[in-house]
Amino acid sequence: MTFPLPPDATIGIVGGGQLGRMSALAAARLGYRCHILSPEVDCPAARVSAGHTLGDYEDPAALEHFAAHADVITFEFENVSATGLDLLAARKPVRPGTAILRVSQDRAVEKSFLNGIGVPTAPWRPVASLAELQDAAAALGLPAILKTTRLGYDGKGQAMLRGEGDLAPAFKRLAPKPLILEGFVDFACEISVIVARGADGAMTSFDAVENRHRDHILDLTLAPARIPQQTAAAATALARRVAEGLDLVGLLAVEMFVTADNRVLVNEIAPRPHNSGHWTIDACPASQFELHIRAVAGLPLPNATRHADAVMKNLVGPEESALWPQILATPGLIPHPYGKTEVRPGRKLGHVTRLFPRGALPGPFAISAALDPLAAEV
Ligand code: AMP
Repeated sequence: MTFPLPPDATIGIVGGGQLGRMSALAAARLGYRCHILSPEVDCPAARVSAGHTLGDYEDPAALEHFAAHADVITFEFENVSATGLDLLAARKPVRPGTAILRVSQDRAVEKSFLNGIGVPTAPWRPVASLAELQDAAAALGLPAILKTTRLGYDGKGQAMLRGEGDLAPAFKRLAPKPLILEGFVDFACEISVIVARGADGAMTSFDAVENRHRDHILDLTLAPARIPQQTAAAATALARRVAEGLDLVGLLAVEMFVTADNRVLVNEIAPRPHNSGHWTIDACPASQFELHIRAVAGLPLPNATRHADAVMKNLVGPEESALWPQILATPGLIPHPYGKTEVRPGRKLGHVTRLFPRGALPGPFAISAALDPLAAEV
């Protein structure tokens, strides 16, 4: 396959969730077809795509079938095994490259990589045994957060350690091993920066945004982040350094903590579109999904500019999704339902964006009022 991808090409997307869905919608706008790999019948991404290989991410026959139907392969779901990644990469170009996915799949590898390129994180130690956990807790102090190195998302695979008595039960409970222990960061706010990088090394990044979580799940994103300009510039520089260090071709989301004294520490990276970038669909000439597809397809990358300020609210679980009729009837709320058939507590079922003129992101009270009927705590 030659790049830029010709208009009749098919982009293979591993994963069938909302990130795949919104990527496929952006790809369709650019004239491409998408083919999804997912074990779920009628998944959100397959509903809006030209093709779907229904199969498991570890099933060689499914991976073969998927690769045969794609001209280039990308991801919205990172936890494909090393063998699965190798099989795909041997068949078709994979963007971003499989080495990057391996880094982002393992918190210890990720943090070693970040620290190795001079990117600050919370202090951390690898933990493979209870004795190592006791040593790590003595070195880092408590409170601290014990995390699995693999398969953690939305706060799953984590335990807060407040006292000595928490060590042994948390070590026993968390799986799979090994783990890492991270010093607790008493952050002032959480932010993220999304960077797109092309095969030629050209980069563009969206403004830093502020993220609010509820029950460990992203609840709100405020664009731009309400932080000093210098702090935002430092966050952007770090995100770009990570994208360059990974030799990324695609999109990278970098989640960070801002401390009370305005230091920026990287928490996590994700080499794909990110929930904290959904506002870009409505507030930017080219969304994170369009930049993702453009980078993967080898198209030029426009600047990640923003024509509006924005607030994005996730709709999680049955309680919030029950609000769709009111949301649809409220002028100014821009609805994005994901078309998920199964409604479960904690499941992201859609999001809503509200735009404000640039520079006019209101204070907390006004944002809550603007998100009515969603009763947001800002
Ligand atoms: P993670 O799965 O690493 O993204 O963590 C989920 C959430 O837990 C983060 O968004 C933070 O709110 C919180 N958290 C994670 N690590 C730390 C830390 N070292 N210090 C304080 N809070 C943390």
